[in-house]
Amino acid sequence: MTAVSEYSKLTGNSPKQILLERKQIEARIAELGAEITRDYQDKKPVLIGVLNGCFIFIADLVRRMQLDMEIDFVKLSSYGNEQESSGKIKIHKDINTNIHGRHVLVVEDIVDTGLSVGFLHEKLSVLEPASLKFVTLLKKDKAKINFKIDYIGFEIPDRFVVGYGLDHGQLLRNLPDIYTMDRK
Ligand code: 5GP
Repeated sequence: MTAVSEYSKLTGNSPKQILLERKQIEARIAELGAEITRDYQDKKPVLIGVLNGCFIFIADLVRRMQLDMEIDFVKLSSYGNEQESSGKIKIHKDINTNIHGRHVLVVEDIVDTGLSVGFLHEKLSVLEPASLKFVTLLKKDKAKINFKIDYIGFEIPDRFVVGYGLDHGQLLRNLPDIYTMDRK
């Protein structure tokens, strides 16, 4: 079955446009994993995944990293079931790890407005990690951030995307490829 027909079957909608195919995603994550492995040798970083969207990306990324690491998660929400940001960030689950003096790498699925990463940058900096870096699989060109996103999988246009962990109304996270969806 093609990826497009998998999509149609799940949504009952007409096929949408594929943005990134699973092979492209896999290849880029292998590159990111190698780069992060080089940068964090002997640093035993703490990875902080941002739920829910990161769950597939972080699972694939850590298996491309050849070093010791700890993994923790935060759960934020800036989106309800709408396709537009609510502009407010809520913490649903905080980290359990003491990150004071540790090398922290935040793992995001997508940076859209930049609000979530900005919020985390501020919140985690206060805890005085030895270093604080960010990796995101996708970054939209409209994102406004006043610090560096250290590792970016793909820069994408300002379209709503689903699949590979990214949802639409909590569905479609299980699609292996990434698709653009029309805004309502
Ligand atoms: P930001 O705070 O940068 O505006 O948005 C970050 C969060 O919004 C992401 O972690 C993700 O959960 C959600 N988000 C932003 N853009 C998209 C998108 O195009 N598709 C989906 N499914 N979620 C998105």
